[in-house]
Amino acid sequence: MEKAFLIKYAEIGIKGKNRYMFEDALMKQIRFALEKADGTFEVTKEQGRIYVIPQTEFDPDDAVEAMKKVFGIAGICPVVIVEDEGFEKLKEDVAAYMKERYSDQTATFKVNVRRAKKTYPVSSMDAASDLGERILETLPQLSVDVHHPDVMVNVEIRTKIYIYSEIIPGPGGMPVGTNGKAMLLLSGGIDSPVAGYMIAKRGVKIEAVYFHAPPYTSERAKQKVVDLARLVSRYSGPMRLHIVNFTDIQLYIYDQCPHEELTIIMRRYMMKIAEQIGQKSGCLGLITGESIGQVASQTIQSLAVTNEVCTMPVFRPVIGFDKQEIVDVAQKIDTYDTSIQPYEDCCTIFVAKHPVTKPNLNIIRRSEQKLQEKIDEMLKTAVDQAEVITVS
Ligand code: ATP
Ligand code: MG
Repeated sequence: MEKAFLIKYAEIGIKGKNRYMFEDALMKQIRFALEKADGTFEVTKEQGRIYVIPQTEFDPDDAVEAMKKVFGIAGICPVVIVEDEGFEKLKEDVAAYMKERYSDQTATFKVNVRRAKKTYPVSSMDAASDLGERILETLPQLSVDVHHPDVMVNVEIRTKIYIYSEIIPGPGGMPVGTNGKAMLLLSGGIDSPVAGYMIAKRGVKIEAVYFHAPPYTSERAKQKVVDLARLVSRYSGPMRLHIVNFTDIQLYIYDQCPHEELTIIMRRYMMKIAEQIGQKSGCLGLITGESIGQVASQTIQSLAVTNEVCTMPVFRPVIGFDKQEIVDVAQKIDTYDTSIQPYEDCCTIFVAKHPVTKPNLNIIRRSEQKLQEKIDEMLKTAVDQAEVITVS
């Protein structure tokens, strides 16, 4: 008996030609995820089904844990594969399979036979009832319930025969790479890693940009963002992280503009730079961790003024979440403990005591005119000199 996994994926989005793209992207992401698990695996597609076949000794829990992070997987079924050596042998195999797993349980079950190999000499119905009978002989404490069984014993007769009865839920969503690419503004906080995770879950490949302001923000703060990018990449796949030196722009704004407008003006330039870097690498949208009303720069007026500089759509998946709801996701995806490490991010250094909470676009634009002399050159430098690292 050979142990493997059958991967169930949602039907959504896999109609027609897209199906191949979807399946290929899913297999690629499964391979990537399993690189980190113990053992080597072959990921194959046969008759519209994806199987993960271990090639060496492997740790099943480890493999399942890795696959639970692959978007597009609806369920992971540990499966036992046996050769087709006649129906008598199949009865023995199914009995052995059940004995190994359900000897000390008093569950109800149903046998579900699928016969993809139409030449198989026993019909699906007959096979199901005969196999059920054999299971009852082997494990008399079990009983049959055809309507609401505790355990569905699936037997799929193909070139080989696949037996499985457990479906471990996957994360759902769509495989990364099936829905284009977007640029995540990744800070060291709680919200933006969650935002990146949520958009990646919809099949979007992500890159990230971090605005670093040395010496006002430390190397440790930068390292924290690299760590967060790595944590998100366990779900999203390898990610390019652009690190932009933002110090000169920030100081220039600080010198020229009213301090209570600093945050909002700074955020407008962050969005502009993120968009320019995104355009160069084929991104079709920006992603932020903004949530209405969370801080002064996220009032609906501030969001409108920030948004005004962007021509790409800005995706804000946590816009309607309360902080606790964002924290819950951060804990689920394991970014929370890193996010709450106490290293300053570049927004907190220059914040005014009383930042504007209802900025007026015309006033902000007028303030920005004071930056006319140098800002274009500074933006160009920031974009051109961004450091790029790939995390995975
Ligand atoms: P987060 O928890 O994601 O840091 P926040 O609640 O601290 O968010 P802000 O600091 O106002 O909120 O930032 C709003 C959004 O702007 C962040 O979610 C992130 O997408 C982006 N952002 C803020 N600071 C940076 C930075 N230094 N580099 C890149 N993106 C940033
Ligand atoms: Mg922040």
